Amino acid sequence: IDLVRALMHVPAKFKEVLIELLKQQTNWTSCEIIDDRPSAPESSQVAPLRYGHEEHGFLAATGTTSDELARWSHWVACWLELARKQRHLKLLAYKDELSGAWNRRFLRTCLSRELQIARDKRRPLTIMIFDIDDFKHYNDRWGHDAGDEIIREVVRLLNTIIRRGDHVCRIGGDEFAVIFCDPEPPREAGSNHPTTVEILARRFREQVANARFPKLGVEATGVLSISGGLATFPWDASDIDGLLEKADQRLLQSKRHGKNSITIGKDE
Ligand code: GH3
Ligand code: MG
Repeated sequence: IDLVRALMHVPAKFKEVLIELLKQQTNWTSCEIIDDRPSAPESSQVAPLRYGHEEHGFLAATGTTSDELARWSHWVACWLELARKQRHLKLLAYKDELSGAWNRRFLRTCLSRELQIARDKRRPLTIMIFDIDDFKHYNDRWGHDAGDEIIREVVRLLNTIIRRGDHVCRIGGDEFAVIFCDPEPPREAGSNHPTTVEILARRFREQVANARFPKLGVEATGVLSISGGLATFPWDASDIDGLLEKADQRLLQSKRHGKNSITIGKDE
């Protein structure tokens, strides 16, 4: 039960829990999971952690026999393989294959969790929805491959601007959502959460406008733009649908006002 619980709720600590349980089940003097044989402590016994064709490193232990170690290494490898499969399935379920960004399913799961944290800690939470301007034109003029490249490049650019705890999601063809939930104190001196997010959003729009997209050829450099809208909990809405709707309305407002802009607060 401890292992299943760790797998579901604290996957980052899974190996630690596994080793702890192994120590409780055996009376070995020491044991650890290592990447390669040479890193094994002196005088320890070593067994490969293999499940089918999957390699998971080695189990090194002292105070055991090679038979006993072989039996337990099979048990450990089996659990490690289950953890790997679980990670892989999670990525398949939550990632957008083309851009490497998170997908719409992740957006809702993550927003629900982050909103609860924001409520509990009395912290604001901002989301930005944006859409590439005239994207159809780029697809028609330079081809679908160039369009795909633009989508990937926009995500790459965005990832260089946001903070570590923020999330970029692709929620439609050329439509994206960013969840700004990094709890670190603001980088800009004297600013607080929504202000910092507004600075990041503006900086991102400027960087897209100045970016070079090699697939578009020389005559099209620096011509891509995005339109977006921001919504912040608790001021604009207090639930997921309300926040997404508000950000979307502001995105449409940016489009109506001539595109290449991000609407932050004031509504029409
Ligand atoms: P607007 O400024 O109003 O946003 O105009 P737009 O041309 O960007 O129009 P819209 O956002 O409605 O069109 C999105 C286009 O994105 C339509 C579709 O052909 C294209 N698209 C959707 N998914 C993909 C994809 O995965 N790859 C590529 N290359 N194009 C895509
Ligand atoms: Mg568009």
